[in-house]
Amino acid sequence: MLKINKFDRIVVANWKLNGSIEFIEQYLKELNCSKLENSSICGIICIPSVYLHDLAGKLNPLFLGGQDCSNYNKGAYTGEVSASMLKDSSCQFCIVGHSERRQIFGQSNKDICIKVMNLMAHNINPIICIGETYEEKSNNLTKDILYTQISKSIPENATQDSVIIAYEPIWAIGTGLTPSLEEIENIHFFIKNEIQNFENYKILYGGSVNSNNASEIMGLNNVDGVLVGGASLDALEYKKIMNS
Ligand code: PEP
Repeated sequence: MLKINKFDRIVVANWKLNGSIEFIEQYLKELNCSKLENSSICGIICIPSVYLHDLAGKLNPLFLGGQDCSNYNKGAYTGEVSASMLKDSSCQFCIVGHSERRQIFGQSNKDICIKVMNLMAHNINPIICIGETYEEKSNNLTKDILYTQISKSIPENATQDSVIIAYEPIWAIGTGLTPSLEEIENIHFFIKNEIQNFENYKILYGGSVNSNNASEIMGLNNVDGVLVGGASLDALEYKKIMNS
C-alpha cells in the first residue's frame, strides 16, 4: 500500500457515473501525463470500474482509483466488484462512503467499515468520505455526525499512512455552495485535534471545488488536499486545481 504521508497535497478526481472510451482518450491527451511533474502532489483519478483497464498504466505519476468496492470478497453477489478485482485492475486507491452511496444506495457506517477493511487487506488505500446534510448543519449537529461517521466507519487497524479522510458537506456537493473558509478550517481542526488518534491523518475537503477556489481552500490550516467531482471531468481544470 502506498504511504500517504509522504505527500504534501492530495487532489482526488471523482468522475462519478461519467466517461466513455472517447472521453478517456481525450482526457489523457489533455492531461498529458508525461509532462506532469512527479512531485509531492498525489493526484488520484477515481473512475467507473469498467474503465479501470483503459487507464491502467497510463496515468503515471498520477494514481488510479475506484469509486466503491463490495462488502464481499467473492460469491453470489451479482453486480458487485470486490477489492481483489480492483487490485487486479491496477487500483491503488478507492473512494468509500461517498454521500451518494450512503444516501442513494443505503450504505451504512458498518458497511463502509467492512469495505475499508477489505481494501486494506488488498493493499488499496481507502478514501473515506464523511459529511453532514444541510438540515444537520442547521441543527448544529455537524460535529456529532462526523464523530459518529469517523468512529463507526474507520476500523481500528487503520493508520494515518494508509487511510485518507474526505470531509464533504453533502449540501456542498454539486451545488456550487461551499462552507466559509473559517468553517472548513474549524471542521478540519475538529477532526484532527478533537477526535482522538486522527492528528496526523490526511484530511481533504470536497464540495464544489474548482480552479477558482482550490488555492484558498488548500491554503487553509489542516486541509491536506481536495476531492473534486464535477470540475474534475475537465482535464485542464483538474490540472489547474492540482497546481493551485
Ligand atoms: C464529489 O463528487 O465528491 C464532489 C465533491 O462533487 P463536486 O465537486 O461536483 O461538488
